Amino acid sequence: MCFIDSASLSSLAEGVSRRRFLGAGLVAGLTAAAMDWGTSLVLPGVAEGAETPGASGGPGSAGVSFKWFGTDGWEITFGNKTILFDPWFSRFDSGFFTGKFNPNATLPLDEALIGQHVKKADHILIGHGHWDHMADVPYIAKKTNAMVIGSETHANVMRAAGVPEGKIVQVKGGEYMQFDGYTIEVVPGIHSMGPTKKHAVPGHLYHVPSAPTKIGDLPEGDSLIYTITIGGKFSIFLMSTANYNERAIAGLKPDVALIASIFSNQIHDFTPRLLRALNYPKIVLPTHWDNFEAPFSAPPRDLRDTFGDPANLDLWVKEVKQLSPKSQIVTMKYFESFAP
Ligand SMILES: [Zn+2]
Repeated sequence: MCFIDSASLSSLAEGVSRRRFLGAGLVAGLTAAAMDWGTSLVLPGVAEGAETPGASGGPGSAGVSFKWFGTDGWEITFGNKTILFDPWFSRFDSGFFTGKFNPNATLPLDEALIGQHVKKADHILIGHGHWDHMADVPYIAKKTNAMVIGSETHANVMRAAGVPEGKIVQVKGGEYMQFDGYTIEVVPGIHSMGPTKKHAVPGHLYHVPSAPTKIGDLPEGDSLIYTITIGGKFSIFLMSTANYNERAIAGLKPDVALIASIFSNQIHDFTPRLLRALNYPKIVLPTHWDNFEAPFSAPPRDLRDTFGDPANLDLWVKEVKQLSPKSQIVTMKYFESFAP
């Protein structure tokens, strides 16, 4: 629940419900099917030019596949390698979108769903430490024996949860790690900001805490951006929250960019500067745009109902299309795969 602090939420929710009421008359005229994104199959973003993987799941010419687990959770496979990014499955209603956020809520663990979708992993990359990113990582790390890469805080949480020390790689940004046929570069990132320029559950853990059991046990602990480059050619940019240090990412030329955009309106020229710094990536995969307190049984919806325009994926896709018309934007359903 990381975009904003609870103070910002209540003021925003109030504004949205008033606007929503005023707009009801207008909306009523539009075809119910087109607007009722709760049940329609029109994924957010598609109305403004985003594509979906389609029945084929994509051309598959790059030899890389992306599977979305909702929120900022991804599985990236190439050759016999599997890399997970912020894999989180154990979603629940913490009351954040209803103004009843409870940082003392106990963290559930959906072992069955994880078992269904996570068969193996060579690396788990941690974008940042909030529960909707990292809460399931200790379990998945022990289950897969994967190498976990994250900041000092993230590493200390892994230690507290019993992940073997030999599998914990503590980074701070600037590392450029060589593996067999691919590299993983780490770039220091920044967390997104709400209207008060703050975000929920800030902070670090510079000592090994007791094993995390509740939301408040998982502070941000720095945000990290990763670039995976396969065979020295195909490169993937991974960010976990809508913010970045332009001077730190400038010059990266990813083929695929996973971009979080909710509350990007709090950042100066978020999208123009980002696309320029990344040299207008061929493929953009929006991430962390869905209501991750809603069950997986419903199609993914963005958070325009709660936060208004800053969470409206259609509007962000429209902006990207205007700034980078050649970029292909692909939005996905839960547990759907896309192979560019
Ligand atoms: Zn967060």
